Amino acid sequence: MKDKLVLIGNGMAGVRTLEELLKLDPDRYGITVFGAEPFGNYNRILLSPVLAGEKTLQDILLNDRDWYEENGITLRTGCEVTFIDRRRRRVVGADGSGAEYDRLLLATGSVPFVLPVPGHDLPGVVTFRDIQDVDRMLVAAGSGGRAVVIGGGLLGLEAANGLARQGMEVTVVHVLDTLMERQLDRPAAELLRRSLESRGLTFRMAARTQAIVGEERVRGVCFSDGQELAADLVVMAVGIRPNVELAQQAGLYCERGVVVNDTMQTYDPRIYAVGECVQHRSATYGLVAPLFEQAKVCANHLADLGYARYPGSVTATRLKVTGIELFSAGDYLGGEGYDELVYQDPGHGVYKKLVVKDDRLCGAVLFGDTTDASWYFQLMRETTDVDAFRDRLLFGQAHLGDSGHGGAATVAAMADDAEVCGCNGVCKGAIVRAITAKGLFTLEEVRAHTKASSSCGSCTGIVEQLLAQVLGGDYSAPEVKPLCPCTTFTHEDVRRVIRENALKSVPEVIRFLEWKTPDGCQVCRPALNYYLLCAWPGEYRDDGQSRFINERAHANIQRDGTYSVVPRIWGGVTTPAELKAIAEVAEKFQVPTVKFTGGQRIDLLGVKKEQLPAVWRDLNRAGLVSGHAYGKAVRTVKTCVGSEWCWFGTQVSTTLGIRLERLCWGAWTPHKVKLGVSGCPRNCAEATIKDFGVVGVDSGWEIHIGGNGGVKVRATDLLGRVKTMEEVLEYASAFLQLYREEARYLERTAPWIERVGLGYVRQRLVEDARGRGTLHQRFLESQQYAQIDPWAEQAAPAVAPAEFVPVVRVG
Ligand SMILES: Cc1cc2nc3c(=O)[nH]c(=O)nc-3n(C[C@H](O)[C@H](O)[C@H](O)COP(=O)(O)OP(=O)(O)OC[C@H]3O[C@@H](n4cnc5c(N)ncnc54)[C@H](O)[C@@H]3O)c2cc1C
Ligand code: SF4
Repeated sequence: MKDKLVLIGNGMAGVRTLEELLKLDPDRYGITVFGAEPFGNYNRILLSPVLAGEKTLQDILLNDRDWYEENGITLRTGCEVTFIDRRRRRVVGADGSGAEYDRLLLATGSVPFVLPVPGHDLPGVVTFRDIQDVDRMLVAAGSGGRAVVIGGGLLGLEAANGLARQGMEVTVVHVLDTLMERQLDRPAAELLRRSLESRGLTFRMAARTQAIVGEERVRGVCFSDGQELAADLVVMAVGIRPNVELAQQAGLYCERGVVVNDTMQTYDPRIYAVGECVQHRSATYGLVAPLFEQAKVCANHLADLGYARYPGSVTATRLKVTGIELFSAGDYLGGEGYDELVYQDPGHGVYKKLVVKDDRLCGAVLFGDTTDASWYFQLMRETTDVDAFRDRLLFGQAHLGDSGHGGAATVAAMADDAEVCGCNGVCKGAIVRAITAKGLFTLEEVRAHTKASSSCGSCTGIVEQLLAQVLGGDYSAPEVKPLCPCTTFTHEDVRRVIRENALKSVPEVIRFLEWKTPDGCQVCRPALNYYLLCAWPGEYRDDGQSRFINERAHANIQRDGTYSVVPRIWGGVTTPAELKAIAEVAEKFQVPTVKFTGGQRIDLLGVKKEQLPAVWRDLNRAGLVSGHAYGKAVRTVKTCVGSEWCWFGTQVSTTLGIRLERLCWGAWTPHKVKLGVSGCPRNCAEATIKDFGVVGVDSGWEIHIGGNGGVKVRATDLLGRVKTMEEVLEYASAFLQLYREEARYLERTAPWIERVGLGYVRQRLVEDARGRGTLHQRFLESQQYAQIDPWAEQAAPAVAPAEFVPVVRVG
């Protein structure tokens, strides 16, 4: 007769242990599972996408009832075990049913911590742990209203995002002054807060909840400073604690969790424990990856193989808020004795910090770009010596010098038991076996058969490389990537569909192309807004909510939260009156720093957000308009003094620079665009590292395109030579229009030209004179609507300072 195994807790860790056990020895036990919840086993980590409306309950089921039946497992759902009789080796359920065991597996998970403040038990106060909690939140969100989420950790933020997506007005209350303090350092936490604010969430930081108020139902939350916040729903997401009550009652040794050894055995040799309820070598875990490692070890011992050991886990965290890329792992704070490698690009919302000690990577925080998260995590877990490539570490695996083959080589070198998908605990060997044994060809098939890459998607690249490696020539990864994870359509598809189907708004595009998410993400929304603006000039109304914060505020946000204001200085030539006006503004608003930019503009740094409208008003009065220094737009035309003043000058570079800037300013483009005009080949205006550069020569002007400075300097390509200023202006506008219409959003001119080829651009602009003229006309037409000073409206006193909408035309 088979031995009897009883599992208490039909959750992720317990059922994973059974799955592993069935692989090793399917006939070893007669198995009974008790689950307090009324469902089969589901993927708890995907409750957040269910709350956000991105997935359904059906989507997140891991094992339905048929699976239990097929494997001969007796499943008792909705039945909480209330008693363990260790002497008789028997468990008893709340409904009086019982089951005997030879071996018992405890996997009771955690219980959410509830702040013991007055009113915590009022109707309308919920936690975020299971399907019932999600149902309660969805019902509350059905009637709109205000939600307060207490707790600015992973769960709190995912709950807040979900409720906001369901139409609630959400405030997150956090006791500290930075979010996710257990996973993020201050700069990353700050970027995260801003990103969530731009999605409509409100934050109340460093706030201590004193009571929850209401009579029959929650009405609000009171804080220790006496303030009160109205609420129709309160979500407590302030932490979890291991669910040890049953184990304690049974006399098992527990501290914070049920204490287990390296074989996942408790102090009773017949009883094992896995998951969030256990404490192993003093550590408890709240993420699935370590629990799956425990499950494997535990199964090995339940199958009487007896050799596996669990040494503890290094953990990594990702936030599942669509469109926010965030990863944190290991010792991310660093400090004395550690080296910190930091890359910051606030304009693009990218922050990367790697913490290194003794040439080993021991921590990482990534915000905005998590492409290399799995690689960093692997380096950490394998304690790889990074000395040889430390100088390129921050730039990712593709910059190791073997790019192109680097990924494939890395994947080939991975051990079979190296974990690829952390969310579902799938290792390389399992994926390779599935591809070969089941004849899989596509990413979707691998997802369906192995669950790898089907949760947060961060391992998709590795899975694709495995497909390529195993199938060789039979597999070709899609050459063109989709616009973002919300869709399978490429940038080009989307632009074409917008034009062909006369789609005129972001929601219309999302609906028409059946986006996977109801309202897009921070990658696709700005792109769609730009594509619509470009396709329907004059007709499409700019969607401020789809713009990055700098473009919404019409100023560049700085690392201390203040803004920088840069007026336009046409061609870099100014007047005493303009300088006086700028000086007066700087004095009046006590602007801490006034600085010249590399593009010959004057930057007022340290302006507070609430001061912006008044600053703009004063600058406007002196005739100054926005320099668009914050936008994906035409920025500056840098000039040298040229033949007007210079001994060497052959052409009037400042005159041309001013005309160019008057022609092009205000144009929204896929990425920032800089222009430059030098009066002779000595090139003092550095025109040959600009997107569009002009160099005066004896016979006229040389036109250069596709240059840029920055991290990766690229000198321009010569497009051709012309004789007159009028020709330069036509080429400039035609070039910009071609770039506007055909480059992908966030693609600068240099990579665009490299992608489509200089020959193509020459053919469209030089060889096809008529086509050039048409592009020039379309540019002029579009500029009629684009040359609107976004600052000017602020001069109207009736307008609320927060509404930075461009409506007044100048020039
Ligand atoms: C909203 C949310 C988002 C998350 N996101 C992530 C993420 O992005 N990444 C990540 O790694 N982790 C995430 N987690 C954590 C992850 O889900 C847990 O670590 C994991 O589910 C724990 O597995 P477990 O089996 O230990 O506990 P659980 O999955 O909670 O399973 C325990 C089960 O035992 C049942 N039970 C308890 N007591 C009894 C009893 N006496 N009798 C019968 N049944 C009982 C419970 O009802 C429950 O169904 C998230 C968790 C939540 C709630
Ligand atoms: S580029 Fe030529 S014209 Fe312009 S400042 Fe330099 S030397 Fe003079």
